[in-house]
Amino acid sequence: MDFTINAEQRAVMDLARNLALKHSPTPVVSWSDAGKFAWDFVRELAEHGLTGIDLPESVGGQGQTLLDSVLVIEAIGAVAPHLADAIHITNFGAVRQIAAFAETETLAGVLREILAGTALPSIAMTEPEVGSAVSHLRTAARIERDRVVVNGQKIFNTNGPVATHYVVWARFGPAPQEVGAVVVPADAPGFSRGADERFISGEPHCALHFDEVELPADYVLLRTDGIRRMISIFNIERIGNAARSLALGELALALAQEHMTQRITGGKPLSAHQGLRWKIADMRTRLDAARLLIYRAALDLDGNGAPRASNVAIAKLTANEAGFAAADASLQIFGGSGYSSGSAIDYIWRRTRGWQIAGGSLEVLRNRIADEMFKGRVPALWG
Ligand SMILES: Cc1cc2nc3c(=O)[nH]c(=O)nc-3n(C[C@H](O)[C@H](O)[C@H](O)COP(=O)(O)OP(=O)(O)OC[C@H]3O[C@@H](n4cnc5c(N)ncnc54)[C@H](O)[C@@H]3O)c2cc1C
Repeated sequence: MDFTINAEQRAVMDLARNLALKHSPTPVVSWSDAGKFAWDFVRELAEHGLTGIDLPESVGGQGQTLLDSVLVIEAIGAVAPHLADAIHITNFGAVRQIAAFAETETLAGVLREILAGTALPSIAMTEPEVGSAVSHLRTAARIERDRVVVNGQKIFNTNGPVATHYVVWARFGPAPQEVGAVVVPADAPGFSRGADERFISGEPHCALHFDEVELPADYVLLRTDGIRRMISIFNIERIGNAARSLALGELALALAQEHMTQRITGGKPLSAHQGLRWKIADMRTRLDAARLLIYRAALDLDGNGAPRASNVAIAKLTANEAGFAAADASLQIFGGSGYSSGSAIDYIWRRTRGWQIAGGSLEVLRNRIADEMFKGRVPALWG
């Protein structure tokens, strides 16, 4: 497997990094401070061909590779973590589910709007009673002639308060294979949002209520076998999530290393202390391991062009832990200033913590890795 990053890829990473720096000269801004979603940045990404990077040109994408998308989210995430949300939304999250399964002109139009930066989708999967065990979801969808009717409730929807469309995972019947998905526009009659809430890192989320939400059946994204098919695409979201942890960890490491050369205690810079040097070495080692596993997950695709579940789970687990470990070690290296509200490390620490729950918690990932192993789908020797 070739992990080389070529000149063209480097140029795109530079472009992405420079756009982010222009938009946010202060690297670490939490969404609580930013105050509003960066619609203008999303549109700028669209103008520069950085939305739908590895989606086919036939659906409005750029026709590049999944690794190209990873490199861009990593480049932006390491200099302006909150702006990487814009890359996430237009390349990794709900957009992928729509791109993979949209069969109607209505949904193809929604996809075009997302890629143009004029619509914003959110994944509506988690429910008050159902998180990790997603196959037990209760939100119901029923077909009535040429209409679909949705009832239920979702929670923890990232960007829920500002999204224009929700990919709602819903049950068309009691059997496990009857889980599917419906794309619900925010202005659909019967749809309402709960009060704005915040994750501890500042991103907005809210509850979503579906009370006899009736739409043309064109908005049905998947009727059958939704869990299996959606999770296969959701693995791309997980790669994006892993790359965000990696990028945040890189930023934590860069800040810590710089601080160690500048901060003098007892007449010596912090960088002279072996105990702290080892922390830096551990951060570098774990982040490098995470990077290689993420790149493997992005490059080693199955016959359908999808990443392999075991590669993704191993990469996300390693990156989520490496990113948070780097944030935590960096906080320690900054001492009291790292533990102060509003410091850069404060935000990085809180944000990396969230990636350990979002998109498949560490426990769910470990379960998945073991399941794949016992099914004989994880070779002991690579290749
Ligand atoms: C930052 C962030 C962003 C999110 N964005 C979205 C979003 O956009 N859309 C959306 O739908 N949801 C979103 N979520 C919700 C997320 O998907 C759920 O929080 C996650 O699936 C866990 O579900 P839960 O919170 O109900 O925890 P539970 O399922 O109640 O689990 C509680 C704890 O038990 C552990 N656990 C559960 N089952 C097992 C098991 N079988 N073995 C071992 N341990 C287990 C879990 O890992 C967890 O630590 C987001 C969450 C976070 C933190």
